[in-house]
Amino acid sequence: MSQRTLVLLKPDAVSRGLIGEIVGRVERKAGWRITALELRTLDRATLETHYAEHVGRPFYEPLLEFMASGPSVAMVVEGERVIEGLRALAGPTDPIAAAPGSIRGDFGTVVRENLIHASDSEESAERELKIFFPELPR
Ligand code: ADP
Ligand code: MG
Repeated sequence: MSQRTLVLLKPDAVSRGLIGEIVGRVERKAGWRITALELRTLDRATLETHYAEHVGRPFYEPLLEFMASGPSVAMVVEGERVIEGLRALAGPTDPIAAAPGSIRGDFGTVVRENLIHASDSEESAERELKIFFPELPR
């Protein structure tokens, strides 16, 4: 089942020089294609829409501040079961709980600065792709 998903390499991944490492892992998965990719500093309005489900949580404000603190890489990845696949490649939200071999498990320690966002379902993917890449055909 071919799908598409939104992936963000968060400001910590970019500032630590991990773009190549992370993009390389995505590129090497058989049959997946990166169909859009852009370096972009995310603005408050975009982040509020993207993270609307977390409004009111204690980590919400610091999360938005962190996400706006420097450039991110936004990309669209397409391919076989890519939504589930990218969540697996990323690992769980808490990098200390994430297995070595996953992106968060290999490079992260702090929950907020966990390197990567990947859409968690088909519905989230379509919603998030509209926010970050409104010009894409759908
Ligand atoms: P995921 O990115 O794995 O889907 P969530 O949707 O639960 O995780 O949270 C969105 C983002 O908010 C996380 O990736 C992380 O950057 C941050 N976050 C989540 N929970 C916490 C927390 N308890 N403390 C600090 N930051 C958090
Ligand atoms: Mg989430």
